[in-house]
Amino acid sequence: MASGKSFLSDVNQMFQEAADLIAMEDGLATKIRVCNATYVTRFGVRLRGQMHTFEGWRSVHSDHISPAKGGIRFSPDANLDEVEALAALMTYKCALMDLPFGGSKGALKIDPAEWEPWEIERIARRFAQELARHDFLSPSQNVPAPDMGTNETTMIWIADAYRRLKPDDINATACVTGKPANAGGIEGRIEATGRGVQYAIQEFFRTPDDVARSGLPASLDGRSVVVQGLGNVGYHVAKFLSAEDGCRITAVIERDGVVRNEAGLDVEALKAHLGATGGVAGFAGGTFDANGAAALEDACDILIPAAMESAITDENAPRIKAPLIVEAANGPLTYAANEALADRGVVIIPDLFANAGGVTVSYFEWVKNLTHIPFGLMERRRDELGHRMLAQSIEQMTGNHFPADNASAFLEGAREIDLVRSGLEDKMRSAYGEMSRLWNSDARVPDLRTAAYLIAVSRIAEHYKALGI
Ligand code: NAD
Repeated sequence: MASGKSFLSDVNQMFQEAADLIAMEDGLATKIRVCNATYVTRFGVRLRGQMHTFEGWRSVHSDHISPAKGGIRFSPDANLDEVEALAALMTYKCALMDLPFGGSKGALKIDPAEWEPWEIERIARRFAQELARHDFLSPSQNVPAPDMGTNETTMIWIADAYRRLKPDDINATACVTGKPANAGGIEGRIEATGRGVQYAIQEFFRTPDDVARSGLPASLDGRSVVVQGLGNVGYHVAKFLSAEDGCRITAVIERDGVVRNEAGLDVEALKAHLGATGGVAGFAGGTFDANGAAALEDACDILIPAAMESAITDENAPRIKAPLIVEAANGPLTYAANEALADRGVVIIPDLFANAGGVTVSYFEWVKNLTHIPFGLMERRRDELGHRMLAQSIEQMTGNHFPADNASAFLEGAREIDLVRSGLEDKMRSAYGEMSRLWNSDARVPDLRTAAYLIAVSRIAEHYKALGI
C-alpha cells in the first residue's frame, strides 16, 4: 500500500472520523472499534502423499447482535490484518443496513488455482470442522458466506461438514449462506452483490442534489463505466448496468490487463472468454493492453473497482478522472486515496453501502432457513386470485381488456426471486436515502462515507446503551 498503512488502520481511521462526531460515553468508541476475538487455526490435510499445513482465521469483530456475519475468502495473500479489517467493515455494514447481525470475516491462506476441486473440498471441510468446534461456525453464533475465491459449492461443503458434526441441530442449514438454491439457498443470492451495486447507482441517479455534486448528466442511461475485476460482483454489475440501464462498459480490468471498447464491451462474451482462457487478452470485442491498472485512470463517468482492496492509493488517486467511484469491492480506496479524491470533489459511494447487497440477501436466506419455508409459498396463489378478480372487475366496469403486456406481471403472484429483488431494492434505497439526507443536511458530514459510518456507529452505540454494558 503506497501510504505504508494497513487496511485495518485505514478502516479504523474512517471509523474514528465518524465516531468523533457522536456524543458517546468514555471508552465506548474504543469498545466498538476493536475486534472482539480472532481464532487462528493451523490444520493438516494429507494430500498428494504428504501432510500439508494450512493457516486460517475467523475474526468476530462484534457480537453485540448474534449471529456475527461475514464471508470466508480463500486467497494466497490472506492475512490477519485484512481479516480483522474486513470483519470490522461487516459490523458497520450490517448496522448501516439495519440487519440483525454482528460482524465477522474469515480467510484461508491458499491459492485455489494450485489445488484440484476435490482437494479444495477436503481442505474446506477440515477448516469448517475447526471453526465449528470452536463456535466460529453456527446458525446462532457465526454464519459465513462466500467471498473472494469461494462460491456456493464451498458453502455447501461447509454446511454439510457442520451438519455432520451437529446432526441434532434442526437449523444446521442456516450455519452458512450463499448456498446453491437447490440446497438450502435462495434465488438471487449469486447476483445479489452486483444487483445491490446496480440499485445503489440507480438510487444515486434518482437523487438530483447528489448527481449535481458529481457534475454528471442527470441520467444513468448512456453513462460510460470502467470495471475492475470481472468476478462475481464485477460481472453482475457490468451485466445489469449494460443490459438494463443503458450504460456502456468501456473497459474491464482483469489480472492480465485491460480490454477497452469505447462503444461498450459485450459483457457476456467477455465473461465467457475469461472463463475459457483465464484472462481478457485475446478478446475479439475490444483492444487489449497488459497495463491494466492504467485503465483505472481512463476518462469515464463511473469507475467501479470490484476486485480487491487498495486498488486506488495516494499514488494513482491524483490521476483518476471518473467523477463517481462506486466501491463494489471492500476497501478498494486507501484512506489517503479517499482523502485526495474527496478533496477534488469526486463522489464516492462507499463499500459499506455499495456492496451490502450480498449480506442483505444472505439475511433473507438465513431467515428462510430458520423458518423452514420458502418465501411466498403461503400467499402466492391467494395473491394471484385477488389480482385476477381485480382485473376482471376492472374489465367489467370499463368494458376494456386488461393490457396484455402488463397482464402477466400483474396477475402472477410474486416468485422468490421477485421478493428477494424487491426486499434488496428496498434496503438499498432506504439506506441510500438516510446517507444522502445526512450528507446534504449536516455540515459536519463531508461525504457519503462519513454519513454511512455515522449512521452505523450511532446504531451500534445505541445498541450498547440499551444493553447496559
Ligand atoms: P471473485 O473472486 O469472484 O472476483 C474477483 C475478480 O477480480 C476475479 O475475476 C479476479 O481475477 C479479479 N482480480 C483479482 N485481482 C485483480 C487485479 N489485481 N486486477 C484486476 N482484477 C483482479 O470475488 P468477488 O466475490 O467478486 O469479490 C470481489 C470484491 O467484492 C472483494 O473485495 C470482496 O470482498 C467484495 N465483496 C464480495 C461479495 C460477494 O457476495 N461475493 C460481497 C461483498 C463484497
